[in-house]
Amino acid sequence: MYIDDTIAAVATAPGEAGIGIVRISGPNSLDIANTIFRPVSKNINILENPRKLIYGHIIDKDIKVDEVLLSFMKGPHTFTREDIVEINCHGGYISVRKILELVIKSGARIADRGEFTKRAFLNGRIDLSQAEATMDIITSKTSASFDIAQKQLEGKLSSKIKEIRDILTLDLAKITVAIDFPEEDEPEVTYEELLADLKKIKDEIHALILSFDKGKIMRDGLKTVIVGKPNVGKSSLLNAILKESRAIVTEIAGTTRDIIEEYVNIGGIPLRIVDTAGIRETEDIVEKIGVQKSKESIESADLVIMMLDSSRELTDEDIEILTYLDNKKSIILMNKTDLAQAITDEDIEKHTHGKSVIKISALENKGIEEIEKEIEKMVYEGELQTENDIMVTNARHKNSLEKAYTSCCDAIDALDSNIELDIAETDFKIAWDSLGQITGDTVSEDLLDTIFREFCIGK
Ligand code: GDP
Ligand code: ZN
Repeated sequence: MYIDDTIAAVATAPGEAGIGIVRISGPNSLDIANTIFRPVSKNINILENPRKLIYGHIIDKDIKVDEVLLSFMKGPHTFTREDIVEINCHGGYISVRKILELVIKSGARIADRGEFTKRAFLNGRIDLSQAEATMDIITSKTSASFDIAQKQLEGKLSSKIKEIRDILTLDLAKITVAIDFPEEDEPEVTYEELLADLKKIKDEIHALILSFDKGKIMRDGLKTVIVGKPNVGKSSLLNAILKESRAIVTEIAGTTRDIIEEYVNIGGIPLRIVDTAGIRETEDIVEKIGVQKSKESIESADLVIMMLDSSRELTDEDIEILTYLDNKKSIILMNKTDLAQAITDEDIEKHTHGKSVIKISALENKGIEEIEKEIEKMVYEGELQTENDIMVTNARHKNSLEKAYTSCCDAIDALDSNIELDIAETDFKIAWDSLGQITGDTVSEDLLDTIFREFCIGK
């Protein structure tokens, strides 16, 4: 595919800010820069000063639009492999928009979402999984998801896929020869060799598929709710966890004022504590969060932290909420263990059906580490994370891996039952093709559009 037009977009987030950046990519970038930019040092030539910030003004019909720093990067050693111009102007709504309009008038067109990255892919600078990783980096909300995305961008997943796919490529070539010249005395390839390759590949693909559940948690966070009656200590626990994890707290206001998410890291596991508005708000709002509301939040959660005040007797309300936990990953916390206890171990065992119960004091910051350990155990089932694990976090990648896996199994069955080689060849091809969709070696225009539509503007 040959790209001959020039695209432009505002690369920084909208709103008031110190600086804003307008980014231009394509063959006309330099011409546009020369048209609208006037350096303060009159004799500076943009082309002769690549990768330097040049101070000057954006000019529209001899009128200064803004004071800017402009940089020019000559392709192909750029993000898109095309000529790129970046204009650092004042942040805010007006400056960036005026400059973008001027750039468009001078011959660029507005970039589609993700189009800079799409060009980086189409021009062969990165493969598709790396392109997707750039977006994951931008949207990641926990440092764990950021790290995974970084590894994917570096090409860790790509090279694993390539390694597996190379074996298939070689096998396919041998199969083709064997089919074309069946009368050869020494067959190009034996069923045993093919089977050995397939079994190895199948296991590797399987391991990648298995990494998805863990990877998805790392990427999106484990959706966690804290439930319990008013005054049991939910806010206190949240504060204790926040302090313990020393996390960067992101509060994301949703469509309604109620929906707030906070991301915290517990033993390397990002918890997305959802709907904490009720916990954070004044007690009369908490009062309104009744049993029904608890039931709803429990149903939608990946992990439930149920809190009881152990200095008071169990109520019917507590017992009812406990029954909702039956098929859930959940932890029961007996809080306020620093006070005289009103709930006995026997009382609690009757209603918790073997779930783990942890005694804590949110006020005195006791037991928080045990919660951490329990969550870790629950998520990883005791299994330790290794730093070098390649993790699949993208559902699209998982689908392709599953297709490849099925085809490997089919090919194994075919070869095991001594079926004609050309039937197994079809399965080899499907597996090869499916893996290629992850890296973008085999990919349709439609799929590309779908993927890049999810990107943000200016990336
Ligand atoms: P929430 O309504 O469930 O969010 O409960 P809060 O966290 O607002 O706590 C209600 C009251 O219980 C506050 O006065 C807290 O200081 C107190 N509290 C919370 N945890 C403990 C604890 O472990 N021990 C004691 N003694 N008091 C606690
Ligand atoms: Zn509270």
